[in-house]
Amino acid sequence: MSQRSQIFTQRRDRILRWMLPCLVLLNLAASWSTISVTGGDWLQVSYWLVTACCFATLTLLSSFELLTKARIAFVTATAMAATCVGATWLLFSSDYLATATNSMFVALFAYLPLLYIYCFLLLPGQVALRFCVAIWAVFAGLTLYFGLPALSVEQQGASDLLVFTFIGQPMAIFLIRMLPRLESELEDSETQRLRAEHDAITDALTQLSNRRGHDNALAEYWRQAEQANHACLLVMIDIDHFKDYNDALGHPEGDRCLRQIGHKLSSFGRQHGLHAARVGGEEFALIGLIEGDMRAQLIAEQAKACFHALSIEHPRPDIAGPIVTASVGYATLAPRQHNIRQLTINADTALYKAKREGRNRAATIDSLVA
Ligand code: GH3
Ligand code: MG
Ligand code: MG
Repeated sequence: MSQRSQIFTQRRDRILRWMLPCLVLLNLAASWSTISVTGGDWLQVSYWLVTACCFATLTLLSSFELLTKARIAFVTATAMAATCVGATWLLFSSDYLATATNSMFVALFAYLPLLYIYCFLLLPGQVALRFCVAIWAVFAGLTLYFGLPALSVEQQGASDLLVFTFIGQPMAIFLIRMLPRLESELEDSETQRLRAEHDAITDALTQLSNRRGHDNALAEYWRQAEQANHACLLVMIDIDHFKDYNDALGHPEGDRCLRQIGHKLSSFGRQHGLHAARVGGEEFALIGLIEGDMRAQLIAEQAKACFHALSIEHPRPDIAGPIVTASVGYATLAPRQHNIRQLTINADTALYKAKREGRNRAATIDSLVA
């Protein structure tokens, strides 16, 4: 399911959850107001009670998931439209128009905007607009036909009905139409914000974290290590003789090589619960939580071995050997006794040590692992 239709479904379900009980209450309120205003006009009262029962049934069906949400939404919209038509018919087919306090008015004023909201929730924007305008046109036609003559004989309810139909309803349609638009604009800006946040910490070439993502992750791992009383591991990886690789094969080929390495280190990181990043041109880093030095050494060696597994042919075997290799420097520190800057310095120093000692090896500041 696309993200858009997922949002659509979630919104529809949320509205259904609130709309159905509200409709039951609305209809019960209409029956009560009919009894209190008309002193018990049983045609009207039973009308509202029957519609209340219909919506209560839909509420139950919806909460017990006996019908699909889509079907319930459709039935609810149809029932609302039928109620509006029924109420309009009752209103005009008798002399109810004479009293502005008539419950039919209350229901119509509440029902029509609700129906418009529903249309915009269930149908695509343009279709919903046409549908709402069509409902309004029918209602406006009836109002003009019955309302204007009623106005001339000074029936009280007729003026309310005219104001509602020609000012209230168009405004309701306009405002409701704006709502989903505003919402989708908000969604768009939220998506853009998330994308910008993601881009700010992601390296475009390898899709690993970039320097900033690495710095954030290091701070986070350091905090976790402090809480769990573990040590924090930092592994720095620098490709050997990469300038020669580029010089011989060109930048695009160099980029392809970096992508392959990035992909490999990403899955290696996932496998071992390490955060992988590309921190510079041909420099990568891994961060993790660690309990013993032995495991740190093992991880550093395995990171180096990733390059052997990849076996990317080096175009200058005379300088670099037959395949692309990397030098690895690693360091572990416990946050309770040290600071984060020291960890970075130690790992960097270890990396230079590995380079100095002949490349294609893993080193830490007080030992060298061939
Ligand atoms: P060493 O073994 O001492 O690390 O040697 P090196 O050649 O790998 O290191 P040096 O720092 O001299 O060169 C790094 C090279 O990395 C220089 C540059 O051409 C290459 N490089 C840096 N960023 C990119 C990139 O985004 N794409 C490509 N294709 N090459 C890059
Ligand atoms: Mg370098
Ligand atoms: Mg290098």
